[in-house]
Amino acid sequence: MQGVCKRFDNVVALAGVALDVDRGEVHAICGENGAGKSTLMKILSGVYTPDEGEIRIDGEPLRIQGLHHAQALGIVMIHQELNLVPHLTVAENIWLGREPRRGWFVDQARQREGARACLQRLAVDVDPDAQVSTLSLAQQQMVEIAKALSMDARLLIMDEPTSSLGETDSAQLLRVVKDLKRAGVGIVYISHRLDELDEIVDRVTILRDGHYIATRRWAETSIDEIVGLMVGRELNQQFP
Ligand code: ADP
Ligand code: MG
Ligand code: MG
Repeated sequence: MQGVCKRFDNVVALAGVALDVDRGEVHAICGENGAGKSTLMKILSGVYTPDEGEIRIDGEPLRIQGLHHAQALGIVMIHQELNLVPHLTVAENIWLGREPRRGWFVDQARQREGARACLQRLAVDVDPDAQVSTLSLAQQQMVEIAKALSMDARLLIMDEPTSSLGETDSAQLLRVVKDLKRAGVGIVYISHRLDELDEIVDRVTILRDGHYIATRRWAETSIDEIVGLMVGRELNQQFP
């Protein structure tokens, strides 16, 4: 993505933002609340249309026309607010909202089988027939990821996926992220929790007030520097 701009009425949410993500890379996006992280990802996943800017996939410029188009391109976003239907089963949720033209009107037994396969890939113990409302938040998060896997995501966007998870569940989620990364999936990972990023992240892009600030290799950057870039504090500046 390059030069991406987006405004909502009087609010400039993004002003000339750039981002590139490789296969098998975990790319973190850091920025304070309101920096534009979610808006950028909603543009990438077809929820919003950018006012300006260019998106290229495998070097080819293209215009992403809605959610289904993004999904057909293998771009799937797991939103900060989960999008599951509580009174439907896990399997039904995983298969919900597919484009008929891709042959996704499959019978229940095959739905269940497909769901089970995706859940197994994540090594999560969730019954495909369980009603989603009976699951823990962590399990629901896993169902969202299973859903993304079932769509053959090659770019998976996770918006603060551990914000509502405890330590054990967060650890499991990070393990899943590592597996996906090994399988060549590109992952954009938005989080406030810089501690957990340490384990998984290859590069980080920092946004501030809708502006692109910098991209750094995680291993070559200190948390201090990243926080400084996030809040607009110059490095080496002394504070009392
Ligand atoms: P972040 O995810 O980094 O917290 P957001 O992308 O949610 O930031 O928001 C960036 C800015 O755009 C904020 O000022 C926010 O209030 C504004 N914004 C986001 N979505 C909308 C919307 N649908 N309508 C109006 N303003 C929005
Ligand atoms: Mg926010
Ligand atoms: Mg957000």
